[in-house]
Amino acid sequence: MRTWFKGRWHEGNPAILGAADHATWLGTLVFDGARTFEGVSPDLDLHCARVVRSARAMGMEPPVEADEIERIAREGIAMYPDDAELYIRPMMWSAEGAANLIAPDPGSCVFALTIEDFPVPPLGAISLTVSPFRRPRPDMALTEAKAACLYPNNGRMLTEAKSRGFDNALSLDFEDNVAETATTNAFLVKDGVVRTPVPNGTFLDGITRQRVIALLREDGTEVEEASLRVEDFAAADEIFLTGNAAKVMGVKRFEEREMQLGPVTRRARELYWSYAHGA
Ligand code: PMP
Repeated sequence: MRTWFKGRWHEGNPAILGAADHATWLGTLVFDGARTFEGVSPDLDLHCARVVRSARAMGMEPPVEADEIERIAREGIAMYPDDAELYIRPMMWSAEGAANLIAPDPGSCVFALTIEDFPVPPLGAISLTVSPFRRPRPDMALTEAKAACLYPNNGRMLTEAKSRGFDNALSLDFEDNVAETATTNAFLVKDGVVRTPVPNGTFLDGITRQRVIALLREDGTEVEEASLRVEDFAAADEIFLTGNAAKVMGVKRFEEREMQLGPVTRRARELYWSYAHGA
């Protein structure tokens, strides 16, 4: 792993937070995740732009803009072999003002970026359940930011799902609609139509999600964004998940039901790979 911090690259995992940083005490840290595989870094610019937006949503003033973050990320990627599979994590946090519970000092925002080896998981190995834990309502948390402080809730979703033998879990929103999973967005396929939860401010409208919707539509597949219930997923012909880490992942089991890795899931992954390679 390499880390860019305060103008230069460091080997490994340097200490970058202070004991009295606002972020250390109060969790004011935002991050994003992009990846490189097979020599390409699809939508890296969008991930860099999102971390800047997340910081502003949290009341911080980013010390770097998206194009500079992308430049630093590409400088780091160039330090690895061409075929490396890498995870790129830009992050920003508030370094000052921990004595005040109120919003961070906007000008004390610090930037760092880590790059580490992280292989792309295979297409179809996921078992999925429904989490007893929900996404927060937008008036209960800063859901428009990809903020570290939201993730312990996702962590306990995963822990609980794994304790029952599942790999991941659907989370519901405050109206019992399916939101996403602990780590990805979720799609179902029914009678050839792709359906996915419509963004309502409770979950991340993922960059991979948006890309896959556009690619499937261009390819002639109907994609509907709608309020979906657990029963819709239970009755689906296929379920697949999207996110920066694995891109498109098939689901092989939903609750007790074994599922097939279907043609639409395979097509979505294929379309994403072609897009990533500029085809
Ligand atoms: N939801 C959650 C909770 C996530 O952590 C992620 C991964 N960033 C996603 C969805 C997928 O978003 P993206 O495609 O932008 O990576």
